Amino acid sequence: MCGIVGYVGARSVVDVVIDGLRRLEYRGYDSAGVALVYAPETGEPYLEFDKKAGKLANLEAVLDGQDRSLEAACGIGHTRWATHGVPSDRNAHPHLSADGRISLIHNGIIENFGQLRVELEASGIEFLSDTDTEVAAHLLGREYAVDGDLTEAMTRVCARLEGAFTLLAVAADDPDTVVGARRNSPLVVGLGDGEYFLASDVAAFIAYTTEAIELGQDQIVTINRENGITVRGFDGQPSEGKPFSVDWDIAAAEKGGFETFMAKEIHEQPQAVADTLRGRIDETGQIVLDEVRMSDQDFRDIDKVFIVACGTSYHAGLVTKYAIEHWTRIPCEVELASEFRYRDPVLDRSTLVVVISQSGETMDTLMALRHAKDQKARVLAISNTVGSTIPRESDAVLYTRAGIEVAVASTKAFLTQLAACYLVGLHLAQVRGIKYADEVSAILDELVAAPGKIAKVIENLEPIRQMARDLAAAEDGAARVLFIGRHVGYPVALEGALKLKELAYLHAEGFAAGELKHGPISLIEDGTPVVAIVPSPRGRSLLHDKIISNIQEVKARGAKVIAICEEGDAITASHADFTVETPASPTLLAPLLTTVPLQEFAIELAMALGRDIDQPRNLAKSVTVE
Ligand code: GLU
Repeated sequence: MCGIVGYVGARSVVDVVIDGLRRLEYRGYDSAGVALVYAPETGEPYLEFDKKAGKLANLEAVLDGQDRSLEAACGIGHTRWATHGVPSDRNAHPHLSADGRISLIHNGIIENFGQLRVELEASGIEFLSDTDTEVAAHLLGREYAVDGDLTEAMTRVCARLEGAFTLLAVAADDPDTVVGARRNSPLVVGLGDGEYFLASDVAAFIAYTTEAIELGQDQIVTINRENGITVRGFDGQPSEGKPFSVDWDIAAAEKGGFETFMAKEIHEQPQAVADTLRGRIDETGQIVLDEVRMSDQDFRDIDKVFIVACGTSYHAGLVTKYAIEHWTRIPCEVELASEFRYRDPVLDRSTLVVVISQSGETMDTLMALRHAKDQKARVLAISNTVGSTIPRESDAVLYTRAGIEVAVASTKAFLTQLAACYLVGLHLAQVRGIKYADEVSAILDELVAAPGKIAKVIENLEPIRQMARDLAAAEDGAARVLFIGRHVGYPVALEGALKLKELAYLHAEGFAAGELKHGPISLIEDGTPVVAIVPSPRGRSLLHDKIISNIQEVKARGAKVIAICEEGDAITASHADFTVETPASPTLLAPLLTTVPLQEFAIELAMALGRDIDQPRNLAKSVTVE
């Protein structure tokens, strides 16, 4: 998944590349490297590279010690998230051709690297790393030797590669050119005044330009100081990317005064949800999707919905199942993308597969999408990234408008996914004639009120912070934390546990509260913290009574109960050791509120334990491998 940057232009190349990598470091941080091409006034152009295991700071320390009297003409940089070969200096990118004149970086996995490696080794090439990437560097060196044209050479190399890849390459003999290629992996072009950028996402270059070009699948792009940008397909046919303007500003990519990006993103949630809801209903009261390549009749023909996603997005899907089945009466299943594809699900033309991916590049989800399309199912994407692969390959799209999310652990993307999922459920209900405009607008009114309520929850987070700090300080106080919930509170429990695992590296589990007695209750010891997500005592009060019973069950066995409940819920307050109140809300929409204290609980506990909040160990943001 990694971050990739390339630059040609008049600025300090090393500064632009390192600055871009810093903004992309959330994508992978096992190691980092740069390759820079120099064109001295006298003598031959030459290429230099540096790479270092660990975070970007390790590489920067090496570069800081170097003489910068000659500025490079162009350069590429990479932060790695290892798939083939341990994170180490030698496996870090860039990788070089056998003659050392070509340098290449890669995001993704080259699936046929084994046979290519055998072929290259048989021709006498010695490999210096364990990566799949190195085969591409050697192949490129071999092809470049044929005609000295880096773009032509890249085209021939791509024809031999299978899998997912974004590649960027520079050649010592061509100091003004960076060539990029993409298949199933992200690459965008930034267009400045006489300067050009290539990057995994726009965050790398928005400090310099907001004008960008989106590349299609299987395309090769060449940026050259004199000739600007040229795009062609892997088939060699000239092509054009799609220009767009980036509406994020640089401040959005900075921490905005918070200690961590995650804290900032938690506070941005009211705005992000409001933005996602804004303007989604037209003058006739109909919910409008962003891109629709299917007819109303196609929507009416849907008789089954699958929601397919990974990680936090999967939890958004679990909440949506309750909403879709309640509002539309269409059966809805939720499945992990990595499982969906390989179990031969029963799909046909009348199945709607809703795929959810913040980055729009999640490889497991993309592969599930393609599997669904092969079976002729319709696919609707919910994504935060305009123009990314998953929305592009879907029949309909609803974009969340969370803005850039930098922290690896998702917060505002999750809440905006929930908001978008509710809209999709309502849209389905409307098109199928199950809900009238006034019913939909009543639910929308509740949704529109949600950002204000989320803001209220955020204002009132200090008690849960204190609770988290106390747990972290108590000896063995947070060795294990359990989360329980019912109905939509169950996915919220799963999400609370996931946040704590991701951030604090603690054993945390989420359970359907009714399931505890069937096994997991044996985990409870004296003092085990149990976080209970309690539904409103109004409305489906049966659920409320049941969870009060579950609270009593765990308390009887020594648990310390932290309850997330509706304001004024005196019954819960009388049973729990500690309560966090959230504003009243319809049951189905409550996850927009009840998730927030759990995010704060995880971040505060992790902070007290000295963890890296924005870049937890072993994780990466946009998971572009299967
Ligand atoms: N598969 C390559 C490696 O393990 C690239 C991984 C990445 O995308 O960072 O080095």
